[in-house]
Amino acid sequence: MNKWIVIALSVVSFCEAQTINQCKERFETYLNFKGSLSNSVKFTEKEIEVYNSRGIKEFSIYAGEIAMLADFFEHTTYKQQSEFLKLKGTKKYSKRQRDSVWIYIDDRKKITKSKKALPFEGYRVAIDPGHFATNLNDAQVEQKYLYFVKDSIHPTDSIKLFESELTFNTAFLLKKMLEELGIKVFVTRQQKDFTSFNCTYNDWLTFHKARVLDSLKDASAMNNERYNKLMKDNPHKFFWDFFRDYDLANRAKKINEFIPHATVIIHYNVDEKNDPWKKTSDKDYTMAFIAGAFTKDNLERPESKLHFLRLLLTKQLNQSEKLASQTVYNFNKNLKVDIASPFDADYLKDNCLLTPSKGVYARNLILCRIINSPLVYGEALYQDSYKECEALMRMDIEKYGIKTNDRLLKTALSYYQALFLTLKGL
Ligand SMILES: [Zn+2]
Repeated sequence: MNKWIVIALSVVSFCEAQTINQCKERFETYLNFKGSLSNSVKFTEKEIEVYNSRGIKEFSIYAGEIAMLADFFEHTTYKQQSEFLKLKGTKKYSKRQRDSVWIYIDDRKKITKSKKALPFEGYRVAIDPGHFATNLNDAQVEQKYLYFVKDSIHPTDSIKLFESELTFNTAFLLKKMLEELGIKVFVTRQQKDFTSFNCTYNDWLTFHKARVLDSLKDASAMNNERYNKLMKDNPHKFFWDFFRDYDLANRAKKINEFIPHATVIIHYNVDEKNDPWKKTSDKDYTMAFIAGAFTKDNLERPESKLHFLRLLLTKQLNQSEKLASQTVYNFNKNLKVDIASPFDADYLKDNCLLTPSKGVYARNLILCRIINSPLVYGEALYQDSYKECEALMRMDIEKYGIKTNDRLLKTALSYYQALFLTLKGL
């Protein structure tokens, strides 16, 4: 048996044992998008069965193995996980095999309770401020900005908002608030105009594009045809064909390397029906996303299947729902923005699963799927709302040495209050 598989018994006993029924409930509540996984994952009294696309049972998880496997999927690499799946198949672990199994567990997630000067010392929170564009050039590529004249009678009164700037400002405020509690905070971007690669999109194109594409081609991770096409793409096309997902995967990778106890992904929304956002909307809603809503073809991709198993076996989804529901509750209370029902936006009705918590939706977004911790992907308000757009432009409050406004401050406070409760309950 491979040496890398190790059980740190102290950590295993630290987790409550999960039952098949709890996994089934998670599957039905968050994961099985409109029944599309019902033939791929089956639950019996004794085991959870996972079938491949040809209808052959390829993996079984028995009741007594759930706690061990939950820890395993939370603490190991993709390579270790896929090797393990191949070895295990539908076999049940005997006592003898189990003793010889070693799961490597990184204990940085454990909190030492002794003599803490600050209430949350030892806790780690990752923050991802969404997007990167803070000038009109980048913003036209990324499509995450508002630029219009609000009032045609007073045409100088123009609205110019970059979502990347709003999310970065909010992340900075939240980081400061959390650090005052003794929490260690990691932010995925170092400057408001930076991508997760510690440089602007433009600099990335100039200094890294060719090298990255070459290395992917050399490693056979990209064929010649795609390589040639991407090399010729203009910045706008390249963003949508490659960079957007590449940057998101890098954000998730950096967050996972930090091993957070919880993750906050910060976004500000717009009214989808107001496309192309050249005027204000009279709508304003708040909502949050967590992982889930897997479809059958998701399970056919090897890495995605590993994410699915982690989300099925661990309590991360339940913890994410708590964190997200507290966040939405606070957005509604502090910002006075109504909570979105599934009929308030098509993507809520068409791409998400409703959770039991108001305004919290399970959605298979790259970050929600890959990040290995409880998380909330928050959409505090609609930037193009008639009321919000001007309030978001203001920089009339100074806090922690930066200029901000009441809306961003209340958004940061809402995440802070939600994290406070959630971390206490972990
Ligand atoms: Zn966004």
